[in-house]
Amino acid sequence: MTKTLPRCAVLLALLAFSFTFPAMGRAQATTAKSEDTNPALPPGLDQQFMDKTANPCVNFAQYACGKFDKLYPIPADMSAYGTGTIVYEHTAYALHGLLEKFQADDASRTPNQQKIGDYYATCMDANAIDAAGLKPLRRELNRIAAIKDKKELTALLAHDQLINVNAFFGYGEQQDFKDARKQIAMVDQGGLGLPERDYYLRTGAAAEKTRQQYVQHIAKMLQLIGESEAEASADSTKIMQLETALAKISMDITSRRDPKNVYHLMPVDQLQELTPEIEWAKLFTLTDTPPVTEVNVANPDFFKGLNALLESTDLKTIKTYLRWQLIDSIPGYALPKALDEEDFAFFGRDLQGQPEQRPRWKRCVQATDGALGEAVGQVYVEAYFTKEDKARTVQMVHDIEDAMDRNIGTLTWMSPETKVKAKAKLHMIADKIGYPDHWRDYSSLKIVRGDALGNAVRAAEFENHRVLNKIGKPVDRGEWFMSPATVNAYYDPSMNDINFPAGILQSPLFDPNAPDAVNYGHVGAIVGHELTHGFDDEGRKFDGNGNLDDWWTPEDAKNFDAMTQCEVKEYGGFTAVDDVKVNGKLTLGENTADNGGLRLAYMAFLADAQRKGIDLDAKDSSGFTPLQEFFIAYGQNWCGSNRPKQLRLQVQTDPHSPREFRIEGVVQNQPAFGKAFDCKAGQPMMPVNACRVW
Ligand SMILES: [Zn+2]
Repeated sequence: MTKTLPRCAVLLALLAFSFTFPAMGRAQATTAKSEDTNPALPPGLDQQFMDKTANPCVNFAQYACGKFDKLYPIPADMSAYGTGTIVYEHTAYALHGLLEKFQADDASRTPNQQKIGDYYATCMDANAIDAAGLKPLRRELNRIAAIKDKKELTALLAHDQLINVNAFFGYGEQQDFKDARKQIAMVDQGGLGLPERDYYLRTGAAAEKTRQQYVQHIAKMLQLIGESEAEASADSTKIMQLETALAKISMDITSRRDPKNVYHLMPVDQLQELTPEIEWAKLFTLTDTPPVTEVNVANPDFFKGLNALLESTDLKTIKTYLRWQLIDSIPGYALPKALDEEDFAFFGRDLQGQPEQRPRWKRCVQATDGALGEAVGQVYVEAYFTKEDKARTVQMVHDIEDAMDRNIGTLTWMSPETKVKAKAKLHMIADKIGYPDHWRDYSSLKIVRGDALGNAVRAAEFENHRVLNKIGKPVDRGEWFMSPATVNAYYDPSMNDINFPAGILQSPLFDPNAPDAVNYGHVGAIVGHELTHGFDDEGRKFDGNGNLDDWWTPEDAKNFDAMTQCEVKEYGGFTAVDDVKVNGKLTLGENTADNGGLRLAYMAFLADAQRKGIDLDAKDSSGFTPLQEFFIAYGQNWCGSNRPKQLRLQVQTDPHSPREFRIEGVVQNQPAFGKAFDCKAGQPMMPVNACRVW
């Protein structure tokens, strides 16, 4: 399963093997011992994080966060650590407590409690998983071994799609870009084991080393499922050749950010002509998809090239590749220890510089939330999310939406007629806070105690069936794409909604005891970030109904592009690690959202302060004026550091800028920041050529 456009998130996904990587910062190599202690949530503004010897007008990241890394060195079981990680870790402890409670085989558990408790307990039983060896995997390996003819591949590929093995391509569902009321089938490029296409094609010593390590990793994994050393070595080379050929016909991640590049709606017959080697009608039937007549072929050139590859590659190599894709996709915790450790050795240690594997309980908490997110989320919000938290957040979201309405009015580059349309889109954005109104029904998902791999496979099949079953049906506007316990937030251009799971609404990001200035700087800027995504270089192409429909005058669109060039240049000038620069085009949407978001939060805070009669010149008990508090809190969203390898990975795959630039790249574009800290024009945080899009 796959999706064509990312739903624009604000933060991190902290675990190693997800394809959304942490939002990052300055490289540092300090390694602390991995301690299993629950980190206390810091207050909204934490003066202990600050380095007050730094000049805020020169190096604001150091000023706001300079002491963070000493307080929170990266633990050995992480590849990065920052403000969001504290909240993430704290939430893992909360979920752990709940799951421990439900893991006892107790008749009083509700069906959902049975499922989450047994999923967790089974994941935790490493000895049983190891003792079972390759036996649970045998059924899947046998399916591949049984293939005698390329004609039988379609059935196997259909099964693969259901169990989250994206061999050769991805298949899934999406809202039709041009008619958001429709849910349609989509197929997309896929089939790679490395994080992204350019990992196969980039030149240079670091890239070549990664590829060598990857080939060795494939060989080791194949040996662990029974191949001889010589066989595994030869097979790993062939797999690398095949994946490299797939990479060459894949579209790069920057081009993929333009919706029109990944939207090619066509009748199924036309897809069949592009890729005769795959029987698409059969694949749709075998995946239990409701009737499919048209399909978005995100990248038609890929499917044309894929057909040639399927034709020219011998069946033995294809079967070897399918075995590799299978063992690479099964989560490590459900595999015997030797496979799990080898998986970590490459993806954790080699790729991200992480010395140690995460404690098993943390991996199992995350796995349970991944498999049964709304069942876990239901008990989580009952225990940890209050009506008051929700009400305060809703109020803040409304304040920031009002600020955006006023902000659109102040733009000098946009015509009155486009402003009317921009406001219309803004007022159609739906706000979703905390958790869904209707909980997902997991009754047809069977979780069996003692069958870790089976549980992972059944959970994948359940989810993929659920998603595919949407095809041809009306859109459920209440659906969430993140679980309630997730420490993150997103904007969805097709839904035209902003979503803030309960997990992100915790201190320091949202501190009920902090002054308003602090909360506007933290979660206010995040709300503004998500709203602005609706109007970044990608989101602006969708209208209020979620349709890809050009509502801009040509002149305004030209002006918008010209304004964004300033940000492309600004961020493209930042060096992230060694010789690796930030990709100004890849990160443009996120940078626009960061810059617009902080401006909106600032405007909303000013309005709030005026309403409440807050004296903006008087110093608070913190020793700072409210506006200084606002900006320090904003900076402290992104405190932290990353291992150099992890940072390299982030810059090459993630549309978010490294954390240092999410702080300094943004405040230097806000004239209000310079005023709050009495900076002089021309100082680094108050440049003469500041950028402004929104
Ligand atoms: Zn974002």
